[in-house]
Amino acid sequence: MALPKLMQPPRKFHFEEPLGRPFRICSVETELDGAGQALASDLFQHGIVASPDVQLYSFQPKNAHPHVAYLKFDGSVTAGELVFDRLDLTNPAHAAALLRALERLRSLEKNGDVGYNPNCGGHIHLDANGFGIWDLVRLMTLFGFCEEPIFRLAGAGKTYGHRTLYTGYDRANHGAGYSDPISKGPFTSAKSAWETIRNQKRMSSLNTTIYTASNDVTGGAHGGYRCSGGCPGAREFIPQKRNGQTVSEAVFDKKTCTCPQRKNTIEWRVWNAQGNPRILYAWIALMQAMHAWAWRPADDKKYPKHDPMPAFTWTWRPFSRLTQDERRLAQDRVQFMFHELPLTAEEKDTLRYAFMRTPYKLFGKDWMKAQANTPYKPPEFPNIYKKTFKRKLGTNPATNRDWADDKGVDYSEGGIEDNFFEQQNVQDTIDYSPRQPQRVMLGGDIPEGTTMSTDATGGFEGSSYIYHNGEWIPDPPLPRR
Ligand SMILES: [Zn+2]
Repeated sequence: MALPKLMQPPRKFHFEEPLGRPFRICSVETELDGAGQALASDLFQHGIVASPDVQLYSFQPKNAHPHVAYLKFDGSVTAGELVFDRLDLTNPAHAAALLRALERLRSLEKNGDVGYNPNCGGHIHLDANGFGIWDLVRLMTLFGFCEEPIFRLAGAGKTYGHRTLYTGYDRANHGAGYSDPISKGPFTSAKSAWETIRNQKRMSSLNTTIYTASNDVTGGAHGGYRCSGGCPGAREFIPQKRNGQTVSEAVFDKKTCTCPQRKNTIEWRVWNAQGNPRILYAWIALMQAMHAWAWRPADDKKYPKHDPMPAFTWTWRPFSRLTQDERRLAQDRVQFMFHELPLTAEEKDTLRYAFMRTPYKLFGKDWMKAQANTPYKPPEFPNIYKKTFKRKLGTNPATNRDWADDKGVDYSEGGIEDNFFEQQNVQDTIDYSPRQPQRVMLGGDIPEGTTMSTDATGGFEGSSYIYHNGEWIPDPPLPRR
């Protein structure tokens, strides 16, 4: 095998579909520094892209293109953005083509021909077919709950960690950033949830603008992204008053919509760009698990409900500068991720591997192993998911050979991975012995009248709740519309 053993993903990047968790189609975008033209030419010769030139920023290949990726211009990096387009990684051909391309990139990285620098981001889109607005609320609540660990994980293998910590790129994009903490609510009513999500900036680490944009299915700037209410499956998300009053904007839930949808994805912008396939595997597994955890069937009475969860907003500080309480909280959230999310044993092992390449390594090798060594827990509601398209990868026109005949090059062992932890001189004075996660906040024996804010750590306005008659309700109660 071409990759160093430690970097090899399970199953040659093939994904299982464990109980209740069908694989959502994904696109993986990686920004690269280097000589763009030379890179395009190299990838073309290896049958990874269709053209020996860097494509324009606006380039979109047709549905049937046989190559696993395309390389397009991106103003924030020197080589371009490599887009692995609509992968079904339960399909061995897709998995093999992706892995072969990643092996080639690894070779180029070792030769110094490409670089994954702090100005390079990694974006992964997941198909949102059948993913309703309340599923999105639950996903955002979950993301907010785990935000600090997710940002650490996104910096796995880099000395500086998440790229927002790299001086000079921490306030990139004219100060607006490329991967900001997400909105934390309020999600206390359909209306407030919709306004929070719709107003969320594109540069959020969880970009929902593609999902929510435009009410117009006939065209416009974002034509066809969202239901117009004109389809048989249309269902109003926020019921509008209609008797004599003007309906300003009807909001329809895409959950049951049957409109033709050109593009319907949720984009995770939080990831760094990096060249270790095993870390990438962990990232994709986590995304699949979190989307599945958040999903509920449209016809279940629990569909429009969510349990508020106290957010742990990205601290935006090196780990060494976190307080003892923040470190404990981070550890609790990591424990939650391993115990509660629908991840297979192999996926948990890649997640463990990735976390051990972050400062969370200080929680201890044995502790992290114990978290990963927990059984698969299916999502509360077995997911139903229709794959909206099938993409067939075929012959490589560059060499006129099938993918399988295009052998990768040899890689020697040893890595360019940062020897961060050898250099790291953080005092570990905290008791990291296993503890109960703060899961108790979510149910069980909660005393009547308990109050909670969904963002206890500051930074963003959250929602407030009070526990009453066995349910979390908004506190103070929302004014009647
Ligand atoms: Zn529709």
